[in-house]
Amino acid sequence: MSDNTTPLSESLHIVIAGNTNAGKSSLFNALFRNNVAVVSSAPGTTTDPVTRKIELSNLGPCSITDTAGLDDTTELGAQRIKKSHSRITTADLVLFATPANISLTEDEKTLLSELTKSKIPLIAIFTFDDKKDSEIFKQKENFFKNAGCKTAVFSSSKNTAEHVSKIYKLIEESDSKIARELTPVEGIVRPGSTVILVTPIDSAAPKGRLILPQIETLRDLLDHDCKAFVVKENGLESALKILKNPPDLVITDSQAFAQVAKILPPEQPLTSFSILFARKKGDFEYFMKSLSVLENFPDGGKVLIMEACAHHQKDDDIGTVKIPNIFKKKICAGGKSVTFEWSREIPENIKDCTLVIHCGACMITQKTMLERTSLLKSEGIPVINYGLFLAWANGLLPRAIEPVTKV
Ligand code: SF4
Repeated sequence: MSDNTTPLSESLHIVIAGNTNAGKSSLFNALFRNNVAVVSSAPGTTTDPVTRKIELSNLGPCSITDTAGLDDTTELGAQRIKKSHSRITTADLVLFATPANISLTEDEKTLLSELTKSKIPLIAIFTFDDKKDSEIFKQKENFFKNAGCKTAVFSSSKNTAEHVSKIYKLIEESDSKIARELTPVEGIVRPGSTVILVTPIDSAAPKGRLILPQIETLRDLLDHDCKAFVVKENGLESALKILKNPPDLVITDSQAFAQVAKILPPEQPLTSFSILFARKKGDFEYFMKSLSVLENFPDGGKVLIMEACAHHQKDDDIGTVKIPNIFKKKICAGGKSVTFEWSREIPENIKDCTLVIHCGACMITQKTMLERTSLLKSEGIPVINYGLFLAWANGLLPRAIEPVTKV
């Protein structure tokens, strides 16, 4: 059954990888039983990764991605290989397509060693089972089995349905090997906790709906058997009066921190959606260490503001207007200068940056965010997110991180 409601960032990512002409697209089409990816014997037919969603009974919402071959020697091959690699290294599970009639190649050995090193679980799928060479097949099967991999066979012309059902069975059996992302309030609340969510509906709010971190947090609170109250910032005071006891936690949009903190007594546990997502998606420990750069920001430093998706920007957009303005007010008041740059990817000139302030990353997976952070960390560049910056700017650290760190 296909699942069209769960965002890709909250799905398990299954990626089909292998060399060109390894039968990846035929496998992808068979898994969805129709022709989504173009299948041809010409090398390099799959140019950009193609992704489709699926709901699997054990695993829940998943996406399956068909990638370009890792030995693509065509003109644009290097770019395609880079894209494929980025999908593979952030995958939760890899279906390693390898022809049952061609001996193992160096590219395949390299891929297996990379996947093993990154602890990404994989299933070896021996494609072209109908054309298999028994000797080659036996060698390959031993090679993958010795590496601790589950294996299956696949042919697009014979016994396909039977092969597909065995492959899905192996995918579902991989559940225990797949590392799961934390849910927004996992370990933070108890069944029966009362939580108030403060969700301003300002000009930046999308029409007719809440934003993803708010929806996910609300659903997660219900999954944890909590009582959740959703109010706008101007409804918080009256909500507190209605409640017999103070709530166990207030979670606010980071942009309303100042207003919310003024209403709440200082002992009231408070955090923000963005801080919950800093823990859920990012390297929280590194974010915490990175905060120290704000105290001694160098004159002439450069801040890179990174967002993980394109969205319509309003005049008072948080990334391009609010954060730079607050930053200048807090850091440059004594005459320091700062420059800002904006990007959705890590730019070539990253070494020139003093600090990265990242959005909540709700539209990308934890693995993608961790990969990003690890690259920045390896360059020695501090990284924080919007929520942590706004908590700091409002003088709300460590209060705003306490509910997340006391777990
Ligand atoms: S910019 Fe970041 S926080 Fe905002 S919607 Fe996109 S991914 Fe989510």
